Amino acid sequence: MTPQSYWAEYAWTGGRVERGVVVDTAADGRIAAVRTGAAAPPVGAVTLRGLTLPGLANAHSHAFHRALRGTVQQGSGTFWTWREAMYRVAAALTPDTYFDLARAAYAEMALAGITCVGEFHYVHHRPGGAPYAEPNAMGEALIAAAAEAGIRITLLDTVYLSSGFGAAPEPHQLRFSDGDAEAWAERADALADRSHARIGAAVHSVRAVPADQLAAVVRWSEDRQAPLHVHLSEQPAENEACHAAHGVTPTRLLADHGVLGPRTSAVHATHLTDEDIALLGGSGTTICMCPTTERDLADGIGPAKRLQEAGSPLSLGSDSHAVIDLFEEARAMELDERLRTRTRGHWTAAQLLRAATADGHASLGWADAGRLEAGALADFTTIALDSARTAGPPARLGAETAVFAATGADVRHTVVGGRHVVRDGAHQLVHDVGAALGAAISAVPAAEGTPS
Ligand SMILES: [Zn+2]
Repeated sequence: MTPQSYWAEYAWTGGRVERGVVVDTAADGRIAAVRTGAAAPPVGAVTLRGLTLPGLANAHSHAFHRALRGTVQQGSGTFWTWREAMYRVAAALTPDTYFDLARAAYAEMALAGITCVGEFHYVHHRPGGAPYAEPNAMGEALIAAAAEAGIRITLLDTVYLSSGFGAAPEPHQLRFSDGDAEAWAERADALADRSHARIGAAVHSVRAVPADQLAAVVRWSEDRQAPLHVHLSEQPAENEACHAAHGVTPTRLLADHGVLGPRTSAVHATHLTDEDIALLGGSGTTICMCPTTERDLADGIGPAKRLQEAGSPLSLGSDSHAVIDLFEEARAMELDERLRTRTRGHWTAAQLLRAATADGHASLGWADAGRLEAGALADFTTIALDSARTAGPPARLGAETAVFAATGADVRHTVVGGRHVVRDGAHQLVHDVGAALGAAISAVPAAEGTPS
């Protein structure tokens, strides 16, 4: 990467809005220096008009769910009927169509200021479960898609072995399963980190990974010092089934098998007991909230505030991609809590930005991203402060404006590893993101059906 200086009209650094900030990027894709008080752009610097923020981390994604947008809003249904529609798309994917869909979805993320995605990936094998000639063809398609879209990825290669407690995979789930955790680990071992990609592990859920298989996954993530993610208690039915099978909550089951800890992220964590909250917080497990998906699927509102008070960092994800907008996720977490408690002000805008940036990156294994400071990865994004949505508030309230008024459509620039991926609202690598999404989604025939 050629070293480049960027001049931000305003930038969020050191927990406040600074006016006139020069960000020098180095050949290694990191920030060489951040200089405040630069009234005008230095010669040769790229001007970033608006408020520059650290890059946003989308800590929980299933790229192929992007094909469900709109189609799953017909009629009513439940989480479980929504899941049937989702399985139909999963059944139709090939490495090529998965690549096209993910490239377009990740390009949409770049346009929304997202510089790193955590892809919770479980569509590993051919329909029916036979491996591809290259056993990681599907995971490699996602890593390549992120490269083409210009963003970073943590591929959370997911263990998915059963359809429920003590139940073998159903036919449409066969392509998710490696048979057992040992075979999963062997396949995942062949995936290598690279400059834009890191490999992590995921336990799909306590429904999909038998308790006696959890230790092997924990061991793998310890050996690699890799992030470990898990869907947790999104639906009461999971809690009830876990109780029936093991006599404990899913959180307790994970704790008893060593799954919780500072490298672990629990996704959703919606329906918890007081003991669950103490276990998650006390172990330093990150909680990934996905408010736009949780409300779309009528999951409920998770106890994010109590979890944070108990010791859990918070991150945010767009999960099913009902929308891809981290500003919306951030404000939804606060606004949901306001509705539930009928009081305002549970998190400051700065705290919500931290979840969307530094803490999200840390949960994906990129502790060196999510901050505008020397030595950090040169990943940042700039929102307009003069759009129809953001004009008016004083610039010193840029964080409040970003979190409570901006949308992804206000993103003007996205820089990843010093590379200017989105310039003046235009993706520099995927030239027509809408057309790319339309083509990729129409190539997945099952997405057009009406969900049952
Ligand atoms: Zn998910």
